[in-house]
Amino acid sequence: MKSAFWQLADLLFPSRCALCGMADHAVSDGGNAYCPDCIEKLTPVPRNRCQRCAAEIGPYASSKEGCVQCRKRTLRFNSVVCLGMYDGALQKALLAAKWSFSAVPMRSLGALLATMRAAELHDKAFDRIVPIPQHWRQRLVRNFNPAAIVAAELATRLNINCDVHLLKRISRTRPQKRVSVKQRFENQAGSLAATYPHTIRGERILIVDDVLTTGATCSEAAKVLKAAGAKSCSVAVLARVLDHSA
Ligand SMILES: [Zn+2]
Ligand SMILES: [Zn+2]
Repeated sequence: MKSAFWQLADLLFPSRCALCGMADHAVSDGGNAYCPDCIEKLTPVPRNRCQRCAAEIGPYASSKEGCVQCRKRTLRFNSVVCLGMYDGALQKALLAAKWSFSAVPMRSLGALLATMRAAELHDKAFDRIVPIPQHWRQRLVRNFNPAAIVAAELATRLNINCDVHLLKRISRTRPQKRVSVKQRFENQAGSLAATYPHTIRGERILIVDDVLTTGATCSEAAKVLKAAGAKSCSVAVLARVLDHSA
């Protein structure tokens, strides 16, 4: 995590690269927070991914029935798009962006996701983009909801309506990190509700979060939205976190 000094520098001098700190880098499309070298690190060549959960799989592996990470799980969403796996530069950038005073780095990561995965995102012709709402404890300690920032950026770039009020939290789940991977699906059950369910009948919805680990939260969101009549629910996240207890 960045020191308070660097966080303040980000706020005062947004042209400084949010990952390596290089000053006066060329600001590209969308007020990008990262220098060209860091953008290259943040957007590696896409690998073969599981169609169901976006985990990286072998170059010739098929994933129609899911991969070793997701095969045993009931996932209610139809597919997942991500910028990359949660490691290296992307992990570092995501952590720094999440705890930054400024939402600019998070917005830039959203812009990279929209650009790098444009074909997959345009292909599905979504009707609405819906971010996962924050846990109440996260609201107390963070300056913004990363999922809402990424969702807004995707919405602008794909020209789709972003709906931050559709999903709301209705029960106090424990933070996902504090429960075992197996308990995460139970922990999320009944935690979300659709605020105005009648408006989404027949819609193709893109659910947005910052990361996807077990998929429990996004699966619960898809379950709620499909029960309200959504035709399909796909997921877009910045990074796919592998859980090794799969
Ligand atoms: Zn840089
Ligand atoms: Zn999978």
